[in-house]
Amino acid sequence: MRGYGKERRERILRAAVRQGLLQPETAVLAGFVDLDGVGETVASLRGAFPDSLRVLHAFAAKANCLVPVLEELRRSGMGCEVASAGELAQALDADFEPAQIVFDSPAKTRAELALALELGITVNVDGFQELARLDEILKTRRSGSRIGIRVNPQVGAGAITAMSTATATSKFGIPLGDEGNRRRLLQAYRDRPWLTWVHTHVGSQGCPLDLIARGIAEAVAFAEEVNARLGRRQVTGIDIGGGLPVNFASDETTPGFDTYVARLREYAPALFSGEYEIITEFGRSVLAKNGFTAAYVEYTKTVGGRPIAITHAGAQVATRTVFAPDAWPLRIETHDPQGRAKHGRPVRQDVAGPCCFAGDLLARDRALPRLDAGDIVVVPDTGAYYFSTPFHYNSLPEPAVHGARVDADGRVTFQLLRPARGVQPVPALAER
Ligand SMILES: *Cc1c(COP(=O)(O)O)cnc(C)c1O
Repeated sequence: MRGYGKERRERILRAAVRQGLLQPETAVLAGFVDLDGVGETVASLRGAFPDSLRVLHAFAAKANCLVPVLEELRRSGMGCEVASAGELAQALDADFEPAQIVFDSPAKTRAELALALELGITVNVDGFQELARLDEILKTRRSGSRIGIRVNPQVGAGAITAMSTATATSKFGIPLGDEGNRRRLLQAYRDRPWLTWVHTHVGSQGCPLDLIARGIAEAVAFAEEVNARLGRRQVTGIDIGGGLPVNFASDETTPGFDTYVARLREYAPALFSGEYEIITEFGRSVLAKNGFTAAYVEYTKTVGGRPIAITHAGAQVATRTVFAPDAWPLRIETHDPQGRAKHGRPVRQDVAGPCCFAGDLLARDRALPRLDAGDIVVVPDTGAYYFSTPFHYNSLPEPAVHGARVDADGRVTFQLLRPARGVQPVPALAER
């Protein structure tokens, strides 16, 4: 889609250095969100579904839960999917209407459920025990919430087991294929006219489109079965979850939302019949490619013959990559202290973070122009699940996050999305 990713990152990075958002000593690490890019991605998501269908695209807040980011998404017409009381508070802070919020969590407490039902937030029930809690709450009050059951189509795992939610034994949802479950589920819908939605989320990064589409087809077939058996159109909506994988290997956005929707049409044509309202819950595919991390190289050294650059970005902002490097490889781009791209001859080197454990590496033995102290590394594709959800190892602070917009003349303006925060370092000697 957007072929100018690297150029655009460099433009934003150089502006950030000029404007002092990145500085040695005081601002050694920051996250950036390309807000124009977010708008374009949301437009491509909305454009992928036919206008004739009623679709709520609910952004999965866990992918980037910064309130100003959620506000931006709300203004672009999206809803918000939340998976904890904290994310629910952030969605309300970002001024989403309750009807635009979808609450999915496998561990909702009674109080959280009661609040969601009182406000009219969509609730997807994760199991039979949770359903019994809803019965209790709804005995004494009415609710305008859309209520669905999350089903597990048990279609199997993708390449990353931890991201696969539709395995035979996944902790999420009610497994459709387990002995007796279809009968119990049908009875649950028969007994509860307020159960009008079916939800599934097959998995995230690493799941091939065919696997996701097959899982959704199972959920749609289940909805059709409920309506056929009950002889009434009780199920009026299907929440198809998120999980579109992201290409971390280049600036190409593949697969696109168009490709995904074409696949869904093949596997689950009934979803497009116009009989159902649809909710989607994309997270990574909306934000990942619209964000990058930038960090100074503090030192370099050569160890056992291998050059190593010690940067300020490690496990605290790239947790998954550091702990599971094979599943979550990231690209690294090299820049000089002014933010200009470095074009030297590639040298194999490690790019390390600041944390005090040996595995704190963003890249191992990677061929890149040789990094020097004072250079800046850029880590593309980190707009989702990286700097927005930092890990507090070594009492490292959460880095500032800046939203960037580039106008027609190439001028970059920034908006602070999150200030740097955390344990305050001891003031420098000179200031004491
Ligand atoms: C994590 C999650 C999503 C979003 O997944 P992405 O891979 O970021 O699109 C959507 N729905 C549910 C229920 C989730 O747990």
